[in-house]
Formats: sequence, C-alpha cells, structure tokens
Amino acid sequence: MIVAAPIRHIVIVGGGTAGWMAAALLSNVLPPDRLRLTLVESPDIGTVGVGEATIPPIQFFNRAVGIDEAEFMRATEGTFKLGIAFQDWVRPGHRYMHPFGQPGQAIKGVSFHAWWLRLRAAGYTVPLSDFWLAEKLADEGRFDTPSSDARSPKSTLAYAYHFDAGLYAAYLRTIAEPRGVMRVEATVAEVVLDPNDGTVSHLILTDGRRIDGDYFIDCTGFRALLIGQALGRPYEDWSHWLPANRAVAVPSARTRDPVPFTTATARSAGWQWRINLRHRTGNGYVYVADHIDDDQAAATLLANLDGQALSDPRFLRFTTGRRTQSRYKNVLAVGLSSGFLEPLESTSIHFIQHALIKFAATFPLSKDDPLSANLYNRMIGEELEQVRDFLILHYHANQRVGDPFWDRMRHMDVPDSLAEKMALFRARGCAIFPSQTLFQEPNWLAVLLGQEVEPDSYDPLADAGDLSDIRQGFDATRQIIAQTARAAPLHMDYLSRLIAPG
Ligand code: FAD
Repeated sequence: MIVAAPIRHIVIVGGGTAGWMAAALLSNVLPPDRLRLTLVESPDIGTVGVGEATIPPIQFFNRAVGIDEAEFMRATEGTFKLGIAFQDWVRPGHRYMHPFGQPGQAIKGVSFHAWWLRLRAAGYTVPLSDFWLAEKLADEGRFDTPSSDARSPKSTLAYAYHFDAGLYAAYLRTIAEPRGVMRVEATVAEVVLDPNDGTVSHLILTDGRRIDGDYFIDCTGFRALLIGQALGRPYEDWSHWLPANRAVAVPSARTRDPVPFTTATARSAGWQWRINLRHRTGNGYVYVADHIDDDQAAATLLANLDGQALSDPRFLRFTTGRRTQSRYKNVLAVGLSSGFLEPLESTSIHFIQHALIKFAATFPLSKDDPLSANLYNRMIGEELEQVRDFLILHYHANQRVGDPFWDRMRHMDVPDSLAEKMALFRARGCAIFPSQTLFQEPNWLAVLLGQEVEPDSYDPLADAGDLSDIRQGFDATRQIIAQTARAAPLHMDYLSRLIAPG
C-alpha cells in the first residue's frame, strides 16, 4: 500500500462569505491537532457581499459550525424567511409564492397534491396554497418553527433567513479565529505552481511574503485567482439559458416591519429583489444588458424602492455558469470562483455550504487525489444542473406576450433535462426525480403551478376512495391550517423575543 503525504495545512484565499464559511466549518469539523488553517484576505479588494437571502439547509450549516440561532440573528440583523413571492412573473398583476416546506401531508402514501389534483379535476376551486402553512404564515406576516410531531400541521414547515452577508462573514470570523484559524491580511500577487506535478506550491503576497500550503481553497470571488487564472480550469457558460449578466443593488431605509419572505418582481429585462432585514431593506435589479442599459436599470430600481435609498447604486457583472472542474489538483474553488447562478432562488450561499460539506466528505488523501476530485466534481455538477433547470423554468413558463425579453425566454430551447421534467409534470402531475436534489417535489410543484404549467392528469393511486369523503377531509385540513396560522406569533414579535438580551 502506498501512503501519500496527508494534508496538514489548508490555505483559504479570500475573506468574503465563502472564505469565512470555509474557515468556520472546517475549523469545527477537521481535527485541529493534525490540520492547520490559514485565511488570506485582501484589504484592498472588496467582497460582493450582497447575498442576503438563504434557503432552509443553511440551518444544517449553522449547526455544523456550532452557531446559536439567537446570537446569529442578533449579529447579522437577520429576519426569518418562509419563501419567495413571485410578482408579475406569469403576467403583470399575477402573484404566487414558492413557500418552503410542503403542502399538507401524504394520505395513504400518496402525495397530498395528487388528491388535490383529483378534487380539482372534479371542480374543487380551493387553491393548493390554502393547504401550505408556510404561505399562510408569510401572507399574514407571522412566523413559527416546524414541529417534530408528524400529526401537527407545523410538521410541514421549513424556514431560512435573510441577513446582512457582510455581517455574517464578520460573525463567522469571530467563531473561526478562536478555533485557531490564522488570518493574514494581504493581497496575493502570484500563485506559484510546482513544475513537477502542476499543483499549487505557494502564494507570493504583494508585500513579498510567501505562504506555503498543502491544499488551497479559492474563495477569491469572480477573480478565480487559483482555479481560473493559475490552473486554467475552463468556465462553462450557461448564459444562453440564463442570460442575466448584470445587477444593480441599493439598500433602502426600513419603512415597516420586515416581512418573512423575499419578493422577486419581474421587470422588463429581468427581475428585482426585495429583502427585508431589521436595519434596512436590500434591493437589486438583475438584468440582461442586451435589453436595458445600466442607467435605465438603476432608474427602474430607484423608482421601485419602498424607502429612501441609503447609498448610490452599485453595479455588478457576471456570467451565469460553472467551473466544470471546481476541484482540481490541490485547489478547491468555493463560492463565486466556482460559478454563479443568479440569486432567483437564493442558492449561492447554499452552494458554498454544499461544496464544503462534500469536500469534507471526500477529503483529499493527498495533495493530488484525482479520484476524490472527480467524485466531488460529479456530485457538485449534478446539483448545479438541477438548480439551473429550476431557475430556467421560472423564466421560460411565462405569458408576458409582447415583452421582448420575456418573449425570448418563452421561445428559447430549454435543456433536455428540463423539457423532460415539464413533460412529466404535464402528463401525470408529479415532479419526482431519480436522484436526491436540493429542490424537491414541493418546490417544483410551487413553481410549476405558480407559473401556470398545467398537468393533464394525476397520480392514478389518488383515484381510490370516495370523492366526497376526500373533500370533507380537505375542508377540515384547510380550517386547521387557517387556525394554526392565525394562532402563530407575528414575525416581529417572534424575532424580538428571540433576540432579546438574556
Ligand atoms: P467575494 O465576496 O467576491 O469575496 C472575495 C474575497 O476574495 C474578498 O475577501 C477579496 O478580498 C478576496 N480576494 C480576491 N482577490 C484576492 C487576492 N488577490 N488576494 C487576497 N484576497 C483576494 N447568494 C445568496 O445565497 N443569496 C442571495 O440573495 C444572493 N444575492 C446575490 C446577488 C447578486 C447580484 C450577486 C452577484 C450575488 C448574490 N449572491 C447571493 C451570491 C453571494 O453574494 C456570494 O455567493 C457570496 O457573497 C460569496 O462570495 P465570495 O466569498 O465567493 O466572493
């Protein structure tokens, strides 16, 4: 048996959300007596820092880091998030929500929505959203946590957070440094490769210092200093499917109690986000430069704020896509250096955590461990493609006829994998996929039905039983869900109690 030299020193390059998430997680899960962690962050190169909305798996990440929820919410000006409201996506004036959790509970092993589709085919007009507790809570500005009692409607809940990403990174730093992460404030001038095997040997800083490491985590954002510039790993461009390539962001003053959901409003050349934090509101317009120029985009954003702008608009440029090998030789790219999907379903921070967890699960046996790297790249690639398809669906299934950008999205060819998912849903009203993915059937269901993709049929197993009994059961469930929602605390009351000192 050949025993390769184990990894003893990991160098994280970059101190944005990705860098500090890497430092906080790895310092908690890797053995500190055998592994050193160093983080290099530049005092001169800023972070993107606009990522403010998350999805429920972040709770798993925070637990893995050892974070206390109340302390974290206090430190990051956080609010709770129960889903995303999509305004004007199907057509102007239309609204639907992608709530977290699931609608109702399976009956006799058959999904709740299959029974609902059967009822609807027989003339039942109550929308599925009436059975989705997270949506009812969000609509009423209320919040509650999931119950572990499967009989409770609250067992169908899931939630995430909105937070100030800059504060989150700063908070993670206060956790990582006491655990031994060594922080170096400097700019990397050069990434030096080992001429023998092409791995990264060391970094040269602009002040002349040298940093050696066995393994490097590239968290340098869109610069992709190690994975792109030094190792030349190609970037797969997905902008033919997701053409948004600019964003303009601006914070605005808080004008009312924060709502527990993100709002995504369709605009002529993209969409606008609104995220309520405790100290301010985050806003941004994600757009396609072919369809609108920067000045017009900024003017649209500024005209659609619900409070006074707190700074000048900030412009960002990106290309949707991914690094096909985000792990290569002794480099792992995490965050924006590994790829970018626009924040329509708030997935970027999730991809950071996903990358770190999969990295820990396939921890390199030595500096250059191509077998583990290939496995890692396959796992990450599959997840990204599923999310890409999910995002394309939002744009593609629109009825905004006569709006040039939206006409383009409606008529474009979608990936075969998405075409198949839509065909399956139309044929039998289900959205089940062979492999376990981030967005599951309830998520797809919310967006497919929300975007008015209509199924022709439903699961034949829901044809059992008497229709009037099923209807009675549904009416009772609807009442229980409405009562449960009304009994829940207001979002701000819940939050204020949680973050109150002592
Ligand atoms: P960055 O924030 O760019 O950090 C890069 C770091 O690398 C910095 O510390 C910099 O100093 C350092 N660095 C760079 N070069 C060097 C060098 N030569 N030497 C030393 N250090 C260097 N995500 C979500 O989950 N939810 C959202 O709602 C969301 N909204 C977004 C909206 C927009 C418009 C964009 C563009 C992104 C959004 N994201 C969102 C993504 C999210 O902002 C990023 O995933 C997250 O901030 C991670 O960024 P990062 O740490 O990879 O890169």
